[in-house]
Amino acid sequence: MSEFEVPVLVTGSQGRRRRIGIMGGTFDPIHHGHLVAASEVLSVFNLDEVIFVPTGNQPYKQDRDVTLAEHRYLMAVATASNPRFSVSRVDIEREGTTYTIDTLRDLRRVYPDADFFFITGADVLPQILGWKNSDALWSMAHFVGVTRPGHQLDTAGLPPEGITLMEIPAMAISSTDCRNRVRSGIQPWYLVPDGVVQYIAKYRLYRADGNVGSDRMVVSDDVSARAVGSSGHGRDSHADLTGQRKG
Ligand code: ATP
Ligand code: MG
Repeated sequence: MSEFEVPVLVTGSQGRRRRIGIMGGTFDPIHHGHLVAASEVLSVFNLDEVIFVPTGNQPYKQDRDVTLAEHRYLMAVATASNPRFSVSRVDIEREGTTYTIDTLRDLRRVYPDADFFFITGADVLPQILGWKNSDALWSMAHFVGVTRPGHQLDTAGLPPEGITLMEIPAMAISSTDCRNRVRSGIQPWYLVPDGVVQYIAKYRLYRADGNVGSDRMVVSDDVSARAVGSSGHGRDSHADLTGQRKG
């Protein structure tokens, strides 16, 4: 364990085990659909916090260009002032293709005594059985599948005790749509937090005429093979959404 990988002493409110929501995604860019999902699950499951985990950069060609991890991470950090939201770099910093099992293992080292709730939208549920070591996932986190417009909330083949389905306010927002809007010259006001609109404009992300520094890499968009990074864990590798390090 490096000097930065100090396990956090974790106790939830009322002296119980800490309850932590984990939301993995490409977040290219993060939008209000992600934030509403996290906020709803946080309230209903009485979580202490939700950690957003952006995928890293995939070193080999997959199905589409994904914005450099550092941009996606910083947009997530820039999102809101919710003190219960934070962003982790574990997937960004791990070498090689990142899988959810690795995300959960890395976060377990940081939070040895917390209960984990892995939050996914309805579109992702059918993919879980194809994820690496999917059998082992259910003992590492309780899964929460949330509704998403245009997708059936279906748990076919998934262990019923391992997953809870939850209806959330319908947000017909996707990162793909946000990117397409910017490419067409439309700013995605109100679909993403204001700071994200400004970040996209500042770094000219998603523009048809290319980005400053051509800082896009080809990476996987498969949440089951969620891209890359090395083993940076620890409280130090999380930032809260005001951009402060947590210690
Ligand atoms: P893209 O269009 O690039 O795939 P996305 O909008 O699907 O982007 P992701 O980063 O792929 O966003 O998704 C991360 C997680 O958030 C996934 O579990 C996904 O199902 C969930 N999610 C994304 N958008 C919504 C939404 N509008 N409502 C509910 N869940 C969502
Ligand atoms: Mg997606």
